[in-house]
Order: sequence, then C-alpha cells, then structure tokens
Amino acid sequence: MMFTIGCHLSASKGFLAMGKQATEIGANTFQFFTRNPRGGAAKALDDADIAAYLSYAAENGIHTILAHAPYTLNACAKDPKIREFAKMVMTDDLHVRMAAVPGNLYNFHPGSHVGQGMDVGIDLIADLLNEIITPELTTTVLLETMAGKGSEVGGKFEEIRAIMDKVTLSDKLGVCLDTCHVYDAGYDIVGNLDGVLEEFDRVIGLERLKAIHINDSKNPFESHKDRHEVIGGGSIGTDVFSRIINHPKLRHLPFFLETPNEIPGYAEEIALLKGLYEG
Ligand code: FE
Ligand code: FE
Ligand code: ZN
Repeated sequence: MMFTIGCHLSASKGFLAMGKQATEIGANTFQFFTRNPRGGAAKALDDADIAAYLSYAAENGIHTILAHAPYTLNACAKDPKIREFAKMVMTDDLHVRMAAVPGNLYNFHPGSHVGQGMDVGIDLIADLLNEIITPELTTTVLLETMAGKGSEVGGKFEEIRAIMDKVTLSDKLGVCLDTCHVYDAGYDIVGNLDGVLEEFDRVIGLERLKAIHINDSKNPFESHKDRHEVIGGGSIGTDVFSRIINHPKLRHLPFFLETPNEIPGYAEEIALLKGLYEG
C-alpha cells in the first residue's frame, strides 16, 4: 500500500508552488489555508496556476489535498454576524475555491458554543452546513476532532456524530482526526489505540474518517490544551505514531503534519515517518 503523507504549507505562492514544495520534501500531499488563517480576504483565484498545478499533481502523484478553513471562523457563535461571516467564507471556499480543484477535502473546526450550551452549538453548526452543502459539491467537508478547550464543540466523538446526524446531505461530510487534539481531549491513543478506534467506529463510523492530522502534544493526556509538538517530542511519542500510520484501519488514509516546524523540519519528519511505514 502507498503511504500518503504531507504537511501544512504556505499558500502564498499558489497551488503549483505548493505542489512543487511537497515533492521537494518527499511528500505526496499537502494541507493549506484557503485564505489568511485569521479569517478575512482571500487572493483572487489564478486559473493559470490551478491548471499548471493540476497537471503537475497528475504527473507527480499528488492527490487528496486538504484545505483548512480559517481557524477563527465560528459556525456556532452567539452573534449572528459572526455566524454569517463563517457562512460567507465557507461558501466561497467550497463553491469557488475548492470547486477549482475538484474531489479534494476541506477541513474546519466545528466551533465554540460560547456559553450557549453544547446542544445549541451543535444545532447552529448543522444549520450552517445545511445552508452551504449542496448536491453538486465535489469536495468532502471534514469536521476536525477538537481538544475540548473552553466551549469547543467536537472534543467528543458524540458531538461530531450529532452534527452529522442533523445534516441532510451528510454523505458529503467526513472527519479529520487530529492526534494531538484527541489525546488532549481524553482519548488514550497511547495506552489503548484499538479501543479509541473501536469507540470512533461505534460512535461515528470509521468509514467517515478521511484524514489524520499527525501531531505530537506538548501537554499530558486529557489536558484540553491543544498545543502541537514535533513528532517524538511530546506526550504521544514516536512509537505510537508508528502504530498509527501502520494500523490496518488507518494506513490507507492521508496523514498531514501540523507540527511546529519550518520546511526542513517537515522534510525530516516526513522522512522519519516514511521510514517507519511498513510498505
Ligand atoms: Fe485544525
Ligand atoms: Fe489539526
Ligand atoms: Zn490544534
């Protein structure tokens, strides 16, 4: 089986530059922000860059790329203007930007209910998804598992399942599991990886798992902190990542590093993980 591995890259120079950079560091996929991660304006789409990228990707075996929504969006904010902004950004991301690179993945943080309660948060997120997910969408929209920091929605598998259950076109939805987040949230992937995957399967369904964010954690189990660490430098450890990438239920998935690294550090981590992958 082929190992699909990449890392988070800067989108500032366009798609072709990201594709080439991925190849240079030994990756065969990548993640990128659709626009400034703090929200706000996106660059105009460059049709020539996208056409050049698509042929480069086909020739160089880059596939299943993962776009990440700005992390400041809050689909379940209390203020309707903040929710409206999230809807506007995600609509443009999905129906304009991702439509230009069909058949890929788009990940977002479900949101924070900011004191309205988990049930209200879940309803608001599902409402927004129902407004933006239409039958012609070719992108799979991924809900990211969260660390359960503050009033974050998505720190428990049940919360993600509850959102999916309320979305009409839920076959357009999937999940991105972040190893740092789930460990911080209290899922013991270090001591009982099989048990966590069984729980994921029972609550959400493993067929919904479409991508893994592969990050170590600066903090101990169940800390609800969400601070990423380099592979092997944190509380999860290299052995666990070896088990994760080789796990029969996970090894076919694309893995994306979001560790605190510059490009040379990412290249080293990709080489390390490729060396651990049992081909
Ligand atoms: Fe994220
Ligand atoms: Fe993540
Ligand atoms: Zn994180």
